[in-house]
Amino acid sequence: MRNYTQFYIDGRWVDPITAKTAEVINPATEKVSGTISLGSPEDVDRAVEAARRAFATYSERSVKERLDLLQAIMAEYLKREEELGLAILEEMGAPRGLACGFHTMLGKGHLGTAIEVLKEFKFEELRGVTLIRKEPIGVCGLITPWNWPMNQTCVKIFPALAAGCTMILKPPQLAPYSAQILAEILHDAGVPAGVFNMIQGQGSVIGAALSKHEDVDMISFTGSEQVGVQIQKDAADTVKRVGLELGGKSAWIVLDDASLAANVAGATAGMMGNSGQTCSAGSRLLVPSARMDEVRKVAAEAANGVTVGDPTGNFAMGPVVSKSQYNIIQQYIEKGIEKGIEEGAELIAGGVGRPEGLDKGWYVRPTVFIGTNDMVIAREEIFGPVLVIIGYDDVENAIAIANDSNFGLGGYVSGEDIAACRTISRKMRTGAIWVNGAFDFHAPFGGYKRSGNGREWGEYGFHEYLEIKAVIGWDAAA
Ligand code: NAP
Ligand code: MG
Repeated sequence: MRNYTQFYIDGRWVDPITAKTAEVINPATEKVSGTISLGSPEDVDRAVEAARRAFATYSERSVKERLDLLQAIMAEYLKREEELGLAILEEMGAPRGLACGFHTMLGKGHLGTAIEVLKEFKFEELRGVTLIRKEPIGVCGLITPWNWPMNQTCVKIFPALAAGCTMILKPPQLAPYSAQILAEILHDAGVPAGVFNMIQGQGSVIGAALSKHEDVDMISFTGSEQVGVQIQKDAADTVKRVGLELGGKSAWIVLDDASLAANVAGATAGMMGNSGQTCSAGSRLLVPSARMDEVRKVAAEAANGVTVGDPTGNFAMGPVVSKSQYNIIQQYIEKGIEKGIEEGAELIAGGVGRPEGLDKGWYVRPTVFIGTNDMVIAREEIFGPVLVIIGYDDVENAIAIANDSNFGLGGYVSGEDIAACRTISRKMRTGAIWVNGAFDFHAPFGGYKRSGNGREWGEYGFHEYLEIKAVIGWDAAA
């Protein structure tokens, strides 16, 4: 049992001002795995005051000092990596290999990237008579979801620290443990008091208090569209900058060439990774209509080949995060089967209920439909291991289907013809396109349309935390 009932404020672990606790449930066992405290707006005031005080000195630290700090954090992170992974396994149910692998690797990757970017980043630039300075925006409120806990906290904390900002993190109630360990890592690495603060609790209380706070300068949020909209409203009265990373319904276009079968298999298995709880997941797989028979066979085999079970065991997929997520996903699967608009979608793998042999834990069957883009299951983000395959007539048609979405977060193109992949990538209206499975920590990440407005990762992630100042007449001779 984990008892994480203190908050990290002003360089110390402190008790909440008012004591209120909540139990955390292990999604694989449905049993209580520990307790956290739920903070109050008074705790937020205390943390914001500490962050404001710290900003005066931390924002003046040299690049060299900030680099040394990030390197010290890396040393502590490496010591605690496995512990972080096991916390992620317990809080959100990712299988051990994934939790102690890609999950913690993403956090480390964003830290390493922040170090690389900071070494080269131009905080000052002379243009004619004007000096353009990039200055830290101030006190930041960071509000994160549970699905990739280290990715989403680290992609905010490290660029903010690199930029010279101070911050208050509000981790998700569903996945509070890894954030607690991360706070210990930052403390042990010598992050100065008040620079990083963490308060656990309800988004509607802590998140809202941060969003409305007069002395918070910006909010960086990752999560649902509904909450993102609320945060913008809450932040409007104080004219805060709000960075939003929201949901998606990303299309994966597979070209009609020799690599089709392998790409369909890869995209299907990929959709089931992290139990489908990835905002940029390729949840609409677009394939040539003429090849649908072949695709049906390959995709069903790939989905049926995904092993599901206890995250401490040797399975590819664990449970989804909670009972409520499980129920939402079940409803979507039912919708797909029963009333996928006109004629109903064709279920080719998975379906409602738990996988055979599992009667406890929030396990979902890896599910694949063949459908059309107007179906609810193709339009709304399911956030579970559910793939919808849609046929296209030609490449123009594939692009039109991909772009016919309220979201615009990710996109994927796979095929042997790189020129065709590039042409398609230019025409897709999304913030990121991955061509043939490439990966890059320096590539900006964020959404078009309802998927948000911010850009995280790499150098672009720094700009979220920087103001631009123009000093006109800096160099009068120019
Ligand atoms: P969520 O309900 O929006 O929660 C995200 C965070 O916001 C949690 O910490 C939550 O606190 C907090 N929150 C809730 N209400 C709030 C309010 N009124 N004011 C301020 N903060 C509030 O999202 P989720 O269900 O955890 O995550 C799933 C969604 O996030 C999906 O739509 C997914 O696509 C999206 N997502 C997007 C990205 C991306 O990078 N674009 C990444 C991951 C996930 P609680 O602890 O109380 O819930
Ligand atoms: Mg929620």
